[in-house]
Amino acid sequence: MTSNGTKQDNEAGQGEAPQNLTDGFHLVIDALKLNDLNTIYTVPGIPITDLGRLAQAAGMRVLSFRHEQHAGYAASVAGYLTKKPGVCLTVSAPGFLNGLTALAHATVNCWPMILISGSSEREIVDLQQGDYEEMDQLAVAKPLCKAAFRVLNAEDIGTGIARAYRAAVSGRPGGVYLDLPAKLFAQVMDAEDGAKSLIKVIDPTPAHIPAPAAVERALDVLKGAKKPLIILGKGAAYAQADEAVRGFVEKSGSPYIAMSMAKGLLPDDHPQYAGAARSLVLKEADVVMLIGARLNWLLSHGKGKQWGEPGSKKFIHIDIDPREMDSNQPIAAPLVGDIESCLNALIDGMGDNWSAPPAEWVEVVRDKSEANVARMAPRLQNNNVPMDFHGALGALRTIIKDRPDTILINEGANTLDFARSIIDMYRPRKRIDVGTWGVMGIGMGSAIAAAVETGNPVLAVEGDSAFGFSGMEIETICRYQLPICVVVFNNSGIYRGTDRNPTGGSDPAPTVFVKDARYDRIIEAFGGVGVNATSPDDLSRAVTQAITSGKPTLVNAVINPEAGTESGRIGNLNPQSVVSKK
Ligand code: ADP
Ligand code: MG
Repeated sequence: MTSNGTKQDNEAGQGEAPQNLTDGFHLVIDALKLNDLNTIYTVPGIPITDLGRLAQAAGMRVLSFRHEQHAGYAASVAGYLTKKPGVCLTVSAPGFLNGLTALAHATVNCWPMILISGSSEREIVDLQQGDYEEMDQLAVAKPLCKAAFRVLNAEDIGTGIARAYRAAVSGRPGGVYLDLPAKLFAQVMDAEDGAKSLIKVIDPTPAHIPAPAAVERALDVLKGAKKPLIILGKGAAYAQADEAVRGFVEKSGSPYIAMSMAKGLLPDDHPQYAGAARSLVLKEADVVMLIGARLNWLLSHGKGKQWGEPGSKKFIHIDIDPREMDSNQPIAAPLVGDIESCLNALIDGMGDNWSAPPAEWVEVVRDKSEANVARMAPRLQNNNVPMDFHGALGALRTIIKDRPDTILINEGANTLDFARSIIDMYRPRKRIDVGTWGVMGIGMGSAIAAAVETGNPVLAVEGDSAFGFSGMEIETICRYQLPICVVVFNNSGIYRGTDRNPTGGSDPAPTVFVKDARYDRIIEAFGGVGVNATSPDDLSRAVTQAITSGKPTLVNAVINPEAGTESGRIGNLNPQSVVSKK
């Protein structure tokens, strides 16, 4: 084999001139590398086992998981953190379906990702003759992702990868499916022609410059505000326009709040941050400016009690996708473009004499924030045993404050809702959670990608139920020796650990788990560090030690089984039986 991965077809005795050949395997690898896509998240198997091996041999980072869903979540988070598509590689039908959940997750969250799956023989699949892992994967993937492509000929691999790359990152980012039938990998072609067939994509995420009239309209609406509010969303974090975000927010003088993954874009202790006065600002604001945030369920669609009087607000909305405008509320000033270009245009348009919002508004918001922060403070310092959420999260809050480059992964019900408001973030893109779907199971995949893509320490704060979805990836974390500390908030169940079987039968209630479980022992099986923590002090010590050492660690944090509430803070979404219980 030559250094660029081609093989010499020079078997002795053939009497033919040696010819440099390449094949589908090598063309896929060369196309990815040519585009600086150097990491693959995968689970090996037919027909892609050799693709993983050869990719590693060619110098790519190939991370092998225990289940495709977590390899997929890792790829989606890699996309979010790097602005380049994260690549997930799976086997056919069942492996593909496992990866598809993550591809849909990436698409819903507007993160770039490419799911590459091997597939069975087209001729047999299309006649439904019962092939090994038979499935029309392209058709299944299409409605669940931003774009889907299939490559049938080796000479088209370069085009397939280029199209997948552009589709994933351009405009509103999303997930792309790339179907590669088994036969393709073994197709052989002349190496030189193969190299020429590859495409290096130029300017995959072109700037979207907003129209000057739209910028002016937005500034007019903002200028007229007596009680402005800025809402930063994870699109603003994704955009990596950190200077422009800070510059605009500070120049505007407006209070702002951050959606969960936008926390830390400006530090949560910024004087304009109104997170602790969220209810007040949502209700009272007269102009709301959305920057990379959608008015979806996470913001109650911009209506309802939370939003004050109907019709009391004007919206300014910055988004790269024009179709997002008016999706839930009429938008007075749509500003379509990429966040950096839009914010820089606004900053320019504000000139040197932009006047700050009325002082009363700023003061009311600041007073409310300070009062709420002060009210919460003593609860976060409690040292109760068994721990409650406030005591345990108070300890973790201090750790993130001292080590702000730590990436926080967070999922669960109560564990998610409390952590989101208690743990302040200080740096951009350091909080990764359940995202737009509010899905459980993103934990270990996200943690692995965060560690692999950044090299920073990772702290995964997990409800015991949430952890169960991806728990086996603890082996993956230990195998690659990643600097990840997982804290399982163990309250022995879903929401609470106290439900009983009303029939008195021996089956436990559907929401409870084994009592006094020791999750810390799971990681010990793979050579990692396990710690059982019963007090906030224990927890603090264990996590500090883990982050300092960089060793894979799992802390079983014993939480009072009575501490949680039904569905955390979204219990209102849960239909309740109206038929009285016997
Ligand atoms: P959150 O859940 O934090 O509110 P959303 O995921 O709802 O955030 O919204 C993110 C929005 O950001 C999406 O509508 C997406 O189109 C938009 N977006 C993503 N990248 C960019 C970008 N570079 N410029 C402008 N908008 C972007
Ligand atoms: Mg629980």
